[in-house]
Amino acid sequence: MSKSFDVVVIGAGTGGYVAAIRASQLGKTVAVVEKQSALGGTCLIWGCIPTKALLEHAHALKVIQQASEWGVTIPSGTPAINMTQVHARKDKIVDGLTKGVAFLFKKSKITWIKGTARLASPGKVEVLEGDTQTLDAKEIVIATGSSPRSVPAVTIDHSRIITSDEAIHLKEVPKSLVIIGSGAVGVEFASIYRRFGSEVTIIELMNRLVPVEDEAVSTELEKAFKKQGITVLTGTKVTKATSTSNGVTIEADVPDGKTQTISADMVLVAAGRGPVTTGLGAEEAGIKMERGYIKVDELYRTSVPCVSAIGDVITLETGVHPQLAHVSSMEGIITAERIAGKAVQPLNYDHVPGCTYCDPEIGSVGLTEARAKERGYDVRIGAFPFGVLGRARMAGELDGFVKIVADKKYDEVLGVHMIGARSTELVAEAVLALRLECTVEELIKTIHAHPTFSEAVGEAAHAAHGAAIHM
Ligand SMILES: Cc1cc2nc3c(=O)[nH]c(=O)nc-3n(C[C@H](O)[C@H](O)[C@H](O)COP(=O)(O)OP(=O)(O)OC[C@H]3O[C@@H](n4cnc5c(N)ncnc54)[C@H](O)[C@@H]3O)c2cc1C
Repeated sequence: MSKSFDVVVIGAGTGGYVAAIRASQLGKTVAVVEKQSALGGTCLIWGCIPTKALLEHAHALKVIQQASEWGVTIPSGTPAINMTQVHARKDKIVDGLTKGVAFLFKKSKITWIKGTARLASPGKVEVLEGDTQTLDAKEIVIATGSSPRSVPAVTIDHSRIITSDEAIHLKEVPKSLVIIGSGAVGVEFASIYRRFGSEVTIIELMNRLVPVEDEAVSTELEKAFKKQGITVLTGTKVTKATSTSNGVTIEADVPDGKTQTISADMVLVAAGRGPVTTGLGAEEAGIKMERGYIKVDELYRTSVPCVSAIGDVITLETGVHPQLAHVSSMEGIITAERIAGKAVQPLNYDHVPGCTYCDPEIGSVGLTEARAKERGYDVRIGAFPFGVLGRARMAGELDGFVKIVADKKYDEVLGVHMIGARSTELVAEAVLALRLECTVEELIKTIHAHPTFSEAVGEAAHAAHGAAIHM
């Protein structure tokens, strides 16, 4: 039997499910094929949500560990984390949110088809396993996402050499943990497991942590990590990882040309993610691909008519594509609106906020100082430390700063980079500032409530004009 829909979406991650809801709001009949038993994809099941839940536990432990500073007396004994309770709480949050998506599907009359989808022939999607059937689709949206990948010298065994998929479920806190890669995933797990009690070593091939961030942010994070007892090895290349019954031995080339051997209970490979396209039949359907990713134009059209692709699985003809939940969702909305005949504009990827929830948090948007200079701007910088603020002192969160990168000629804000408590929330103001092509002067004239962490944004703007008030 064949069922017909206006739109068939393959994959119910933050790209696919949002595209489906928006298409349904615009009057389309929609089906979503998802191979997992729950909706929400990487973000809800293995990514954003479970990791941030673990980070909230780490933060709670941090506050309790500093109880005496807060005038709180704790009965004798050292505060410790109970992983059974941690996972129970985290799983409850994940379960609630995935069920929430199922509720939204019901409300929007979206047909949820359980199974693995494959492009069969033009306008047809075959559902293998589960609810096997062939679907007729006027439009197909591929949103099959990404999965963890390793580095050349390391074989993931999912027990001692693991990925983030396993790291969110560890029943016990490893005594020692080596993390390969210092992107968002790597530094977040470094913060989680260091706080939970692991000896953590983080290895990064590039010469600084979080290499996509502004250099000043990397320096500040390295300082904070070292203060917390995390060993940081930058400019270091892992050449071998040998798993034994009681641990893993890593060999790595360190910057002085020597080889260093590191032993740990576990190794977490956090070296990026690759596209999920195996078995999808995309290439056979004539879709142009690049290194396994689906090539799309600025409005997410593939090389085959009526087939779009969004989210982690795509590569853009126009530049670098960030693998982030909010990016996939926005791409889903644009795609659904285009399919429904609405006028849509391409996304400005310079305005994508990047949030990393390590301790201290990072929030950034726009050009780093180095990128702005590369693009030929005559750059003006303003920075302000959180530690000066009354609110930061009350919270006991003194690390970090806000840094504004602006164009001297027109005073336009080109980038805002912050590291410190609440940065992942504070960045929202900066995103709007960039979207509205705001000047530094306009940020100065914007009233920032007192006492708040957001005062650092206003003060950084003052500093960019050489006139910070509290510094
Ligand atoms: C540990 C971790 C932490 C993260 N934290 C953040 C964060 O804090 N903020 C943020 O913005 N991003 C974060 N991300 C990234 C974010 O999760 C992804 O960018 C986002 O989930 C991508 O959404 P997507 O819809 O493109 O793909 P996915 O979420 O990967 O969804 C794809 C879906 O397609 C399904 N699928 C695949 N192939 C088929 C098929 N053939 N048939 C049917 N179904 C199929 C999969 O089962 C999956 O459900 C994190 C990622 C990880 C791993």
